[in-house]
Amino acid sequence: MLARLLRARIESLVAPAYGRLGALADAFKAETRRRLPDVLRRRRMLERALGGRVAELMLAGQDETARAAYAEALDAAEGEADTPERGIVHLVGAGPGAADLLTLRALRLLGEADVIVHDRLVGAPVLEAARRDAERIDVGKSGPRHSLPQDEINALLVRLGREGRKVVRLKGGDPFVFGRGGEEAEALRAAGITVEVVPGVTAALACAAQAGIPLTHRDASQSLTFVTGHTADLDWPTLARSGTLAVYMGLSALPRLRDGLLGAGLDPTTPAALVENGGRDTQRLLRGTLDSLVADAPGWAEAGPVLLLVGAVVARGAKGGQGSALDPPGAAPLDRRT
Ligand code: SAH
Repeated sequence: MLARLLRARIESLVAPAYGRLGALADAFKAETRRRLPDVLRRRRMLERALGGRVAELMLAGQDETARAAYAEALDAAEGEADTPERGIVHLVGAGPGAADLLTLRALRLLGEADVIVHDRLVGAPVLEAARRDAERIDVGKSGPRHSLPQDEINALLVRLGREGRKVVRLKGGDPFVFGRGGEEAEALRAAGITVEVVPGVTAALACAAQAGIPLTHRDASQSLTFVTGHTADLDWPTLARSGTLAVYMGLSALPRLRDGLLGAGLDPTTPAALVENGGRDTQRLLRGTLDSLVADAPGWAEAGPVLLLVGAVVARGAKGGQGSALDPPGAAPLDRRT
């Protein structure tokens, strides 16, 4: 029964034109293999043709034009055979870790990539969305808790890009939010490699959404500041005046953040929360004030990444109320019906 229901579902999603598209690809199969013996080149040509114009024409019912477009794509791919590849690297945001928080574009690129270079923050469910035979390189695991040095990651990306394979550099959250994506893009461009950036759901958005904390609110906060706890010289007065603060990498800096913000005049009763593993089904939330978080965090935090949210909006979270709602370690996942 389940198989039948699934089949009905799939049939309703896949346009009948895909059958004709399959037949077209089949008719050209032997010729395509003969003219493009290299498997990578062939795959790229098929991706371009079947994922692009040829498919569009077929879906539009223009079968003959689709056939001509396929033949053209084959000619073009064969013509390219001797020109060296310039290479392209896609800097892709993997979001917070749940596969269904990937963008459709990220999902498509994961399905096409020959090689995926990822860091530790990228969760297993996301990596499972990649093509099964894609090479996976984990640059977050070369030491006990240390990742490959950034210049080595840059060099690796340049080398892979030059090989002409389809490279996806997969980064947790958004590649351009505290992810050193900017440095990687610069290194690649300097080496003459094309870079395409695909945004991802950054931790602050995922954490807030799942905790039911609005990041801005007409009555509580008119601005949102993304800041990293790793920087030594933060502008405390400006931060203390901000509407909502989303602090990345703030857990170990928590006492310093509290001292700096309260010292610059932040009201000590300002609500604050720690969100661990935001956007995943293991998300945990610790609500309180900066003072109570400094006291409670050491016994609370487990191994996952933690984001700090500070501001009046934290009190407007789904579970309401201020005060320190201490989730015991291993607490049930947050109620998602918010
Ligand atoms: N580029 C990433 C941020 C990388 S910096 C993004 O856009 O989300 C790493 C920091 O991000 C962690 O120390 C933590 O503060 C935060 N972070 C990343 N993923 C998180 C998650 N799922 N839950 C909570 N915080 C997270």
